Amino acid sequence: MYQTLYRKYRPKTFKDVVGQDVIVKTLMNSIKNNKVSHAYMFLGPRGVGKTSIAKIFARAVNCIDSDNGDVCDECPMCKISSDKECLDIIEIDAASNNGVDEIRSLRDKVALVPNQLKYKVYIIDEVHMLTNSAFNALLKTLEEPPEHIIFILATTEVHKVPETVISRCQCFNFFRMTEKNIIDNLSMVCANENIEIEEGVLNSIAVQVDGGMRDALGLLDKLISYADGKVTLNDFLQLNGLVLKENLKKFLRDVFFINIESVIETIEKWNSSGKNLIQIMIQILDYLKDTLIDEYINSSKTINVDNYQDFANLINDKMFDIKKSSSPKIYIEIMILNFINSLNDNKIISREIIDCKDDNSMEKRDVSRETLKETNINETTINNVTNEDNNFENANYGNSIIVSSEQMLTKHKEKMNILNSNIVEIMNVRVNNAFVDATKEKLKNIQILFMKLNDYVFDQKIGYLICSLLEGTLRLCSDRYIVISYEYESVVTDTLNNYDKMEKILKEILDLDIHIVIISDSQWIKYAEEFVKNKKNDIKYELLEEPELVFEKIEEKDAKNENSIEDIFGDIVEVG
Ligand SMILES: [Zn+2]
Repeated sequence: MYQTLYRKYRPKTFKDVVGQDVIVKTLMNSIKNNKVSHAYMFLGPRGVGKTSIAKIFARAVNCIDSDNGDVCDECPMCKISSDKECLDIIEIDAASNNGVDEIRSLRDKVALVPNQLKYKVYIIDEVHMLTNSAFNALLKTLEEPPEHIIFILATTEVHKVPETVISRCQCFNFFRMTEKNIIDNLSMVCANENIEIEEGVLNSIAVQVDGGMRDALGLLDKLISYADGKVTLNDFLQLNGLVLKENLKKFLRDVFFINIESVIETIEKWNSSGKNLIQIMIQILDYLKDTLIDEYINSSKTINVDNYQDFANLINDKMFDIKKSSSPKIYIEIMILNFINSLNDNKIISREIIDCKDDNSMEKRDVSRETLKETNINETTINNVTNEDNNFENANYGNSIIVSSEQMLTKHKEKMNILNSNIVEIMNVRVNNAFVDATKEKLKNIQILFMKLNDYVFDQKIGYLICSLLEGTLRLCSDRYIVISYEYESVVTDTLNNYDKMEKILKEILDLDIHIVIISDSQWIKYAEEFVKNKKNDIKYELLEEPELVFEKIEEKDAKNENSIEDIFGDIVEVG
């Protein structure tokens, strides 16, 4: 019968133990010097050797021919203690025996002298799983332990163990194994077992298992069964739902060069081929980190450090949310699209600069300069971006969203137009009207309906509008209005520009005949406070007539000082 590597290579003596040198030395000395305690607490993460060392200690303390504190493995006591049926070394898994009765019977049994050995050793694994009354029973025993009894309590969650129990134990803090420890141990196992293994695989295992030797050996076991002969790095990646470094590099290049189609295609492909997207995100994070460290050390200037840093920070910040998301794939897609969107602005500028270099037309130059001024991008940013462009000469721009100067200018003008309309006044009236018959029930229904929009996130024509809709927070819903708020004023402005298109989408996709109200989060707070005040004073909201959208003439606007967004929004008419 096949014996798992973990069982086969579980250390039988202290000298076989890998990576817990300080603990092993202390325990051996206590045996050598006859200073054994009656209760020990082994705490630390899973799979780092707590139970293995507890078992060796239980035998070593009973060995009668030990000169250094380790098991001699030859004396009669060592022969007895190596037997699985040995009555004096008792293992209790608190995870399965968490009843008070177990510990009560233990209390009766500890009074009895050992059958054959000098000490009776109780190893209670996952001790934090005991119930409170079981802990109390255990505490009674720990308070007056008989001479011949030793307790070894092991736990991964020491904060769940009562202080009173901990204080009666000598505590040993087990640390995660270093990657080097794990690699060394795995190399030894591979050599012993004649396992052919590609370079880099052991390293990848060590990174993956986060310091747990048991997991490392388990993973090696799985790999051996999975691989056809020699174990390759590809086997490792396949088995763990990960991807090759080359694929990661290409993916990142697509992200940084705004190759949206390819980014989405890749995620889709990974997902449908059974890759683990969460693990891949961790892999990307690792890769970004390594590349950044490399860049800081060698300052080879081959990457745009800001982009790498920003993307790494983003993944790091969102990791918790990705993991708990009901659909990590959608979460990751939206997260990356948002990131690309933030790059997009810079990218447009960088292309403009390149365009200008190639083109002598003064007109174009002026457009570009104006765009620059308006978007407040400083020279350093531009330099960084163009640097990267030069470094990735072979990058594929085919699918990139690169907007020409003319398009940029048109977009820019539209933006000015909407702010030069009475849009703010309209939104004000709409919030008021929404308050008239809004209910929680209606809001809940809309929230459920909105989930359908996820299916259209990647639609080439309306995807960006859908993302805008989903990006905001739904605040209020009445029969005729929904109020959506956004964190940033700049996003509010962008979204206001498209509010009519969004209304059309809601009509077409969700069959909702409804007006959208777009405000900022801070405005929403003001409206909500106002509402509470009015409610207290029994002031009722009444439907107001919504004004038509009217644009001021551009010339008039130019004559005046340009209003900043804040100026316009700060001037809100009181509602109610
Ligand atoms: Zn012995």
